[in-house]
Amino acid sequence: MYTNSSCGCCSNDSKIDVPAIFGSNVFNDKLMKERLPKETYKALKQTIEQGAPLKPELAAIVANAMKDWALEKGATHYTHWFQPLTGITAEKHDSFITPTDDGGVIMEFSGKMLIQGEPDASSFPSGGLRATFEARGYTAWDCTSPAFLKEDAAGDVTLTIPTVFCSYNGQALDKKTPLLRSMEVVSRQTIRVLKAMGNTSANRVIATVGPEQEYFLVDKEYYLQRLDLLTCGRALFGAPAPKGQELEDQYFGAIKDRVSSYMKDLDIELWKMGISSKTKHNEVAPAQFEMAPVFGTTNVAADHNQLVMETMQKVALRHDMVCLLHEKPYAGINGSGKHNNWSLSTDDGVNLLEPGNTPHSNAQFLVVLSALLKAVDTHADIMRATCASSGNDHRLGANEAPPAIISIFLGEELTDILNKLAKGEKATSKKASSLKVGVDTLPEFPKDNTDRNRTSPFAFTGNKFEFRMLGSSQSISGPNVALNTIVAEALDEIATRLEKAKDVNAEIQAILKDAVTKHGRVIFNGDNYSEDWAKEAEKRGLPNTRNTVDALGAFVTPKCIKLFEKYKVLSKEELHSRYDIYLEQYAKHINIEAQTAIQMVKRQYIPAVITYITELGSSINVVGKEHSTVQREILAKVAALLESANKKLAVVEAATAKAKAATGVVKQAVAFRDNVTTALSALRADIDGLEGIMPADLWPVPVYSDMLFKL
Ligand code: ADP
Ligand code: MG
Repeated sequence: MYTNSSCGCCSNDSKIDVPAIFGSNVFNDKLMKERLPKETYKALKQTIEQGAPLKPELAAIVANAMKDWALEKGATHYTHWFQPLTGITAEKHDSFITPTDDGGVIMEFSGKMLIQGEPDASSFPSGGLRATFEARGYTAWDCTSPAFLKEDAAGDVTLTIPTVFCSYNGQALDKKTPLLRSMEVVSRQTIRVLKAMGNTSANRVIATVGPEQEYFLVDKEYYLQRLDLLTCGRALFGAPAPKGQELEDQYFGAIKDRVSSYMKDLDIELWKMGISSKTKHNEVAPAQFEMAPVFGTTNVAADHNQLVMETMQKVALRHDMVCLLHEKPYAGINGSGKHNNWSLSTDDGVNLLEPGNTPHSNAQFLVVLSALLKAVDTHADIMRATCASSGNDHRLGANEAPPAIISIFLGEELTDILNKLAKGEKATSKKASSLKVGVDTLPEFPKDNTDRNRTSPFAFTGNKFEFRMLGSSQSISGPNVALNTIVAEALDEIATRLEKAKDVNAEIQAILKDAVTKHGRVIFNGDNYSEDWAKEAEKRGLPNTRNTVDALGAFVTPKCIKLFEKYKVLSKEELHSRYDIYLEQYAKHINIEAQTAIQMVKRQYIPAVITYITELGSSINVVGKEHSTVQREILAKVAALLESANKKLAVVEAATAKAKAATGVVKQAVAFRDNVTTALSALRADIDGLEGIMPADLWPVPVYSDMLFKL
């Protein structure tokens, strides 16, 4: 079943029959059509596309067909696969066996087993949503994301059913439920706008996403020798290697054979699960890489991104490497993010962020664009909060891409067009003359006129927006829940205006004008890394929230609660639960970093330094004072750093104990942020200083040059 270097679909190692393997482990539309009675297929399609409820008797037929297919492919178990608030996925495997009277078994999978599950989920974070007496959570099939087979290296094959995860009262305990709700909401409000503008062909609008995934690879041998990589996913200590990324020789560079072989296996595994892995390349930092799929429906893209992260880690082990998804594995070089490319598309295939060829489609485009301006400006704090994590604090708010200030990059030309429209001037584009049809003074947009701006956190890239703040290890669900909902709110207002308007064209003009005058401050086309921008943004009143604890506060403001409750995407309780859980996660992560640092310093660094000091002392004794100037000089330096490190270690220990003892999640998180992270940085400075003067063979752990350049 399981494919490493050879599989049924590949005639030999180098030739891969991609169309044959693509989706071979997915119960996709083609299979459903083949294996389901016509009526059942039609009903299921209606459920998938329009959300119509699926009758139990039909579910039974679907379940049976799924089971038969899974058994043919070697499956023995099925699982309801869900996405609790830990940010990763969860699965509990049940075999298909049902004992028979004669002492044997039959393989069974009922409609109910497909539709609903009740995992004992008391160990997942619920943030107070579930009382202990109601420990159970319920999983329910999300038929908009196809069932698939997961294979592992042991040859185990599991029928995997994407599900939502809720409490008995229907409160969302997961990341998928609000995502599905938000997709509905943005569809409904966009359709209202389109209808008010005379569009009669679209019935649904789909939020689409293509997430680019960055990652690091490290040799497993070095990884295992570093407790910090093992428990935190990042190096807590380590002096810079003599070479970093300054030569710019890694980005898009030729891919090494070892990595290429990994990427090839990764692609095969992803393709089998129907994940359209498309682009792969070396990234900016040494040992850093990227993979991007072809975009799809947000819900499926979110599921797939989880599988991408999981598969990246699994496949790496097969190559004696470890895949690091942490946002900042190594200080001093780039960290990893995730670029969330987002757009809205009608069910008849029109990308609403594609500047069109006709004034009418341009009007549609500009109206959606104006909704985005308003949404992002009004709710920048929520967008920022959805990307907050201890790992991502090393990127956002530190000297790295992108900054914590949310702004929109539109490119000079589009900005110019918007500004002119707002002033009521005739807008022309450089490449085409203006047209006066449909909407007054709307120009024809030249395609692909957008300059690339790599520094913007939210950049228009020709036919989509690229939200670049996401951390590499996070689920893409939260940011997309936010995007869909804030845009839905802006579109809702626009729809109401257009529905009431006597002259729709005049109203469109007014809407564009309002968006630019009220929310134009969020547009910034310059260098987002510059200090000038930070100052300018402050003048414009744009928030600049540099750490997770502050950022998460945006989830429980009256503004945020009102927004999410209005559209029934998240209730007040659900928002509070997320606020609590994410703060707690922050505190836990910093605590793990502190415990790891304490152990490494006590059990590895200090003993190694003492060994060296003893060696130096013996040498001085042996050769005598006269000939040991160098030894004594080094000894003085090393001893001073050791003493300093030992004091700083005590500070870390005290700060950590105090933070843990603080009452309440907020106080704890604040204490970890203010006292523990700072104490850890101070300790690191001494240890890294020691690394620079200690003999290589006495240093107890692999160093940056090992981890970054010996792949
Ligand atoms: P770049 O590195 O220049 O940003 P990539 O090709 O690496 O470009 O990534 C672009 C991503 O955007 C891909 O995943 C692509 O499928 C996705 N994308 C393209 N069009 C859309 C769209 N309409 N909606 C969402 N994502 C899109
Ligand atoms: Mg990109």
